[in-house]
Amino acid sequence: MNKGLLVILSGPSGVGKGTVRESIMAHRELNLAYSVSMTTRPMRPGEVEGRDYYFVDDATFKKAVKDKLFLEHTSFVKHNYGTLKSEVFSLLEQGKNVLLEIEVNGAHQVMNEINRDDLLTIFLLPPSYDELENRIRHRSTEPEPVIEKRLAKAKLEMEMARGYNYQVVNDDVTRVSQEIVSILQKAFQERATLTTL
Ligand code: 5GP
Repeated sequence: MNKGLLVILSGPSGVGKGTVRESIMAHRELNLAYSVSMTTRPMRPGEVEGRDYYFVDDATFKKAVKDKLFLEHTSFVKHNYGTLKSEVFSLLEQGKNVLLEIEVNGAHQVMNEINRDDLLTIFLLPPSYDELENRIRHRSTEPEPVIEKRLAKAKLEMEMARGYNYQVVNDDVTRVSQEIVSILQKAFQERATLTTL
């Protein structure tokens, strides 16, 4: 069995990564599994433990760092987030393609860690910064200072889009999801051809 491909989806807060991710994951033929991260951020309404994140306290997260359980980890607007090696590698070994939805610092750690042939990176851009600001303000359940921090961080993140294999614009969820599905299909086909040569 071929080992799966690791796919990173990044993009600034508010760009619509979650919706795009769900839309891509609905394409069963892609054989994509989502890697659930660990975080110290409080659970939001509607989120589910073990589906959206493993929600933990600071001490548990610190211990996981010390025990080297993370492929990458970072702090983002005062909370910690990390990708668990156990999630990623067991899924890859099962031949699944694995999707990480992570921010740019973590993505760069993974780029330094994983062989380029085993990794595909996609950055989701908003149609414009104004549009992004609107989306962050409208969907947010968080207090103004947190929103301001997310906006500042979003600007910085957009400047880091260049290191990714693909940059795609989320002008429309259905369209951009289809664009990403095509990118993935092509990459998976090429990989299958290469490994059977
Ligand atoms: P949120 O709090 O909105 O769920 O996530 C904040 C940011 O952290 C988003 O950009 C999200 O993609 C990113 N993120 C979620 N999980 C991880 C992770 O395990 N590692 C890293 N580096 N970023 C993550």
